[in-house]
Amino acid sequence: MKNNNNSTTPKAPITAPESVVAYDESHFANAVVPPIFQNSLFTFENCAEMIETYAGRKIRPVYSRGLNPTVRAFEDKIAALEKTEDALGLASGMAAISSAVLSVVKPGDRIVSVEHCYPDAYRFFEMFLRDMNVTVEYVDGRDIDAVRAALPGAKVLYLESPTSWTFHTHDIAALCDAARDHGAVSMIDNSWASPIFCQPATLGCDVVIHSASKYLGGHSDVVAGVIAGTNEFIGRVRSNVLPYLGAKLSAFDSWLLLRGLRTLPARMREHQRSALIIAQNLADHPQVTAVHYPGLMTPPAPGLSGSSGLFSFEFSPKVDIPTFVDALRFFKIGVSWGGHESLIVPALVTRAQVGGPNSAMRFGVPENLVRLHIGLESAEDLWSDLATAIEASLK
Ligand SMILES: *Cc1c(COP(=O)(O)O)cnc(C)c1O
Repeated sequence: MKNNNNSTTPKAPITAPESVVAYDESHFANAVVPPIFQNSLFTFENCAEMIETYAGRKIRPVYSRGLNPTVRAFEDKIAALEKTEDALGLASGMAAISSAVLSVVKPGDRIVSVEHCYPDAYRFFEMFLRDMNVTVEYVDGRDIDAVRAALPGAKVLYLESPTSWTFHTHDIAALCDAARDHGAVSMIDNSWASPIFCQPATLGCDVVIHSASKYLGGHSDVVAGVIAGTNEFIGRVRSNVLPYLGAKLSAFDSWLLLRGLRTLPARMREHQRSALIIAQNLADHPQVTAVHYPGLMTPPAPGLSGSSGLFSFEFSPKVDIPTFVDALRFFKIGVSWGGHESLIVPALVTRAQVGGPNSAMRFGVPENLVRLHIGLESAEDLWSDLATAIEASLK
């Protein structure tokens, strides 16, 4: 058996199944694309093999809620991209966030989160963790002293940089250092940068989380999540949380993700190229009062080697935002992001959202703010669309 395992360290038995299973060429017949193992069950040659497997002396797939070779191939690639020992695929980004946090916290614990984290992560903290008697304290991640002051006794430091809607960037290395000093597990939602523009583990972050529904998939055709970290951490989630919450990533979604990953570096370069042009043009436009794009920051945010296609900006009161949104031809009106298509969501929509507390609105996201995702269309077409729609929506 040939071991094409990309990760740098040997994997512990059982908790982190050996990738050799996923890459065994006798399964794959040298196919350039890994097959979809669309089966729940893997049977045994004989009773002895079953005994060896259940005793933990042999690692092989048994049941796809545990190990599935197509899913494993995706997990190995994420571990290699994020420079972590291991990774674990889950059924959504939220499954990744909740599974990672629930693997650490117990009733009575406290966690610290940066303000403006992804709104459903915030709702998970507020509506779920609080009922478990876990306290969540929110701090401005740009204020390292405030983070340090909040850390004593915390089990988790939960980060997202840049933050949702406001696009505040943080000094990830400094924050993770502070977490380590206080014995808190640092976790970061790295969906925005993707491993192409930020590898938080190399900055000292313990756990890296993605909504793979965004850039990793890249084609708006899959909902998935992934957690990357040490063998010890991933092994804990794999053995203590995944089997029981059961939010397993499917083989078909893994196959779509493997296909998406092949173009990830090229897509990220193009998202960045176009987003920079459009963010700069908006910054120069008389009806735009602020642009929140990390790519325009000088000096650049520490730890970020590039900027993706998602950002927000603010309009002057002279622009009627619903008219502007409806005047656009290339930008589709919708949430999510990370695919080929350009998208727009005005903050006034999410500010008016019903159904519980909403983090995006809690800390002052203004009414005149608009979020764009710059897709893979021509930047010139996208800019002319925006400029025309602004002209058409002046009050
Ligand atoms: C979409 C998103 C999530 C949630 O991911 P799902 O795959 O939709 O569950 C988490 N974090 C960020 C930053 C997101 O944009």
